[in-house]
Amino acid sequence: AMAEGRENIVMFPFMAQGHTIPFLALALHIEKKKGYSITFVSTPLNIKKLRSAIPPTSSIRLLEIPFCSSDHGFPPNTENTDVLPYYRIIDFLHASLSLKPAFRELILNLINEQHGCPPLCIIADIFFGWTADVAKELGVFHAIFSGAGGFGLACYYSIWGSLPHRNADSDEFLLHDFPEASRIHVTQLPKNMLDADGTDSWSVFQGKNLPRWFNSDGVLFNTAGEFDKIGLEYFRRKLGRPAWPVGPILLSMEGRARSGRESGITSELCNKWLDAKPANSVLYIAFGSQNTISGSQMKQLAMALEDSGTNFIWVVRPPLGFDINSEFKAGEWLPEGFEQRIQDQKRGLLVHKWAPQLEILSHKSVSAFLTHCGWNSVLEALSHGVPLMGWPMAAEQFFNSMLLEKEIGVSVEVARGPTCEVKHEDITKKIELVMNETEKRKEMRRKACEVRDMIKDAIRDDEGFKGSSVKVMDEFFHAAFSQWGRTKLGQNH
Ligand code: UDP
Repeated sequence: AMAEGRENIVMFPFMAQGHTIPFLALALHIEKKKGYSITFVSTPLNIKKLRSAIPPTSSIRLLEIPFCSSDHGFPPNTENTDVLPYYRIIDFLHASLSLKPAFRELILNLINEQHGCPPLCIIADIFFGWTADVAKELGVFHAIFSGAGGFGLACYYSIWGSLPHRNADSDEFLLHDFPEASRIHVTQLPKNMLDADGTDSWSVFQGKNLPRWFNSDGVLFNTAGEFDKIGLEYFRRKLGRPAWPVGPILLSMEGRARSGRESGITSELCNKWLDAKPANSVLYIAFGSQNTISGSQMKQLAMALEDSGTNFIWVVRPPLGFDINSEFKAGEWLPEGFEQRIQDQKRGLLVHKWAPQLEILSHKSVSAFLTHCGWNSVLEALSHGVPLMGWPMAAEQFFNSMLLEKEIGVSVEVARGPTCEVKHEDITKKIELVMNETEKRKEMRRKACEVRDMIKDAIRDDEGFKGSSVKVMDEFFHAAFSQWGRTKLGQNH
């Protein structure tokens, strides 16, 4: 049982790998740095997964919240989005709204168990705005935690809040309450949103979710204020609440090794392959845990990789239209003889399923990263000074790509979306721009190294020196403690 009065933090990520990874990273970080106890809330199957993912040195407590997938029209045992095709994720989000009564009960039980002492705070997912209502009712300090960056989430929030203004006779839009962001293009807007005029299921969901944030005490971001300022300012202005940039906090190698994904290659093999390549000569290509490209794009990308002559590691997942758990089918997915040729030339390494990404990005042979601009991938690259090539696919990735290219200057966008038509000649040109000794490459590398150093400083926590993100974390807990004191006092009277 938990000691009475011990600082307990309840964390509740959305059930998707891209969300649980940054939550777990944050939890392990807080546990290590602050020594507070952490309670992770999720549905039974995810708790099982988490149990094997948590390192033995951690004492994170896991609490189950019931969820019956068939009640919501999902196959039995569907408790996270990792096993769902992309278009069904939104149904899963709608279904997650039904967790509210069980979550409220769980918090009440915790309060009882702790002899009336409430948790120090609840840290919940960006998709669980309703948890702020529960927290407010029960007098618990509440924060949203965004695994997405400030700028990307600000654009995203603004778009769902109200349809952006279309510039006359163009495909460009202005965000109605975020003028600091430059114009955005129709291809960067969520699909269906324009035609449906707010009645599509994503708009309906966000229309319920985002207003709940006003009941929260603020938003924690896995980012650093140094390179992500304007997005954070947006939230401070919009919500009238703090936005706390406490990152980047990355999941350690240890946490990753245990994350339960079936690996396509061992770290040893991958390192051995990279060791044999010259410094800064390898392009790493991966599109995260959820996304993939179409079969025709896959072929164009393969052709560009051959034409450019670059060394590469490519995490190849089944293209759109194939079962996401399908076995690797080089013959169907890739140009004829591609796999054999690149093997013979020892130029490319194709990884099936899952690669040790953090290790790859930290290897000196890696020179650039072709990415879907998922925020974890972005942070992992920037923390190692690796420039990017953007191929955003969904959600706020389009805006991450914009931030990286236009504001920070460490990226070149290659293509947009999982279905756009892209020609291999165009991809080749961009690969050459980033991989050959061009002025652009020099410039990008210089900036990427600057950002890497900024990050190092932001997360530095030595004797006598606290980086900006470390200080912000202290401010966050300071705010939580002052609310905690008030609530405990209120209960005693
Ligand atoms: N990842 C990995 N191996 C892979 C693909 C992804 O380790 O082959 C990890 C990656 O390091 C990152 C996470 O999965 O931590 C993906 O998160 P991100 O935010 O980039 O994208 P999402 O999966 O949420 O779209």
